[in-house]
Amino acid sequence: MKASVVICGAGIVGMASALALARGGCHDVVLLGPAPRAVSTDHNTYHPRVYAISGSSQQFLQSIGVWSLLDMSRVTRVEAMEVRGDQFGALYLRAWQAAQPQLSWIIEAGEIERVLSQALKVYGLTWLEDTLDQYQNQTGVTQAGKTLTADLWVAADGANSALRQLAGLPYDSQPYDAVGVVAHLTCEHPHQGVAFQWFRPEGVLALLPMPDTTAGHQVSMVWSLKTAHADVLLGLPPERQADELAGSLAPATRARLGQLTLRGPLNGFALTLGQSPMIGPGVALVGDAAHRVHPLAGQGLNLGLGDAQALVRVVSQREPFLSAGDPLVLRRYRRERAQAILEIRLVTDGLKRLFDVTLPPIPWIRNAGLSLVDRLPLVKRLLIEGASRSA
Ligand SMILES: Cc1cc2nc3c(=O)[nH]c(=O)nc-3n(C[C@H](O)[C@H](O)[C@H](O)COP(=O)(O)OP(=O)(O)OC[C@H]3O[C@@H](n4cnc5c(N)ncnc54)[C@H](O)[C@@H]3O)c2cc1C
Repeated sequence: MKASVVICGAGIVGMASALALARGGCHDVVLLGPAPRAVSTDHNTYHPRVYAISGSSQQFLQSIGVWSLLDMSRVTRVEAMEVRGDQFGALYLRAWQAAQPQLSWIIEAGEIERVLSQALKVYGLTWLEDTLDQYQNQTGVTQAGKTLTADLWVAADGANSALRQLAGLPYDSQPYDAVGVVAHLTCEHPHQGVAFQWFRPEGVLALLPMPDTTAGHQVSMVWSLKTAHADVLLGLPPERQADELAGSLAPATRARLGQLTLRGPLNGFALTLGQSPMIGPGVALVGDAAHRVHPLAGQGLNLGLGDAQALVRVVSQREPFLSAGDPLVLRRYRRERAQAILEIRLVTDGLKRLFDVTLPPIPWIRNAGLSLVDRLPLVKRLLIEGASRSA
């Protein structure tokens, strides 16, 4: 089979790239990858992964026609952020302080996947529910033995990208020796659209606002714990996990949302800082296949959607005599993404390292820094605008 573009990986970034290309008039696109699993539409059951979606990602999803397909009763607006240091430091960011209606939206992975796959079916795009097994010089062979040739191959197949490896592209991966432990919790007090974050000695803890359930108010937890600590927690039987977690969350959150109760399974994701060259001969990398960042700023998927948007723009706007995989087109893509990726990488990695230092006076300085920023309206406005716009 011959196509202009093959997108390898049907995660959120791969599906969004395929849909944006199809909507831009490029119908000669093949999406290669297993389709996402069907999700529950029950209002007491939520997909285990949720994402903070930035303003620019929201605009992109709107531009490809899927934002209006989301079930808005499952989407939560983040109207404010409360960030606390490991001592006295505290920073409050409220959307209205920069005349914004919200900072971001919290959406389940399954809900975004649902609307993207629905839209792709409407567009009738060729979707091979198979995986890439072999690849050389813009020709790939799938697990089921199908041969595909394309001018441009897009690696959207995640952090362990098969296409990136088969194409021989390097990947610099630095493990954080930490695991992002995620779970949904019932909380005693309403979250009021606030996203909470604590920079704790054992790791960064975030509670993201979610829709209420019949059990009460709901938040989604992301706690980046040292691998050894996370392994102990994840290895406990479910009933002991709930007790252990409730016991550690009460002091960590200073009971800010009252009692917190585990309402589903705990999941763990090993955290790494990763970077690829973004392009290779006839290959462009997008999403986690291209880079990975610490989740403390909730920007990994937003970066991936920014990649998809930029790639589709340079491919659609290329000169008629250039193929989609021409080195000139690919270099434009890499150039467009360089700054956003570097910024998010530096900010997330820098913050993570700053809060890892225990040697005085660094802990005092970082807490004083948070509280100082809290007293500077102009800096706060810039931070709020940045948070609602990135990546
Ligand atoms: C704890 C945690 C919290 C996070 N929170 C946020 C957040 O709030 N906001 C945010 O923006 N980001 C967040 N992220 C980052 C986000 O999870 C990732 O950046 C995002 O999921 C990457 O999407 P992707 O489509 O690039 O890759 P993936 O979701 O990994 O998708 C890859 C796809 O490729 C397919 N595939 C794999 N191998 C092959 C093959 N050989 N052939 C074909 N297909 C293949 C897979 O089946 C899959 O569908 C968080 C990450 C973690 C760990």
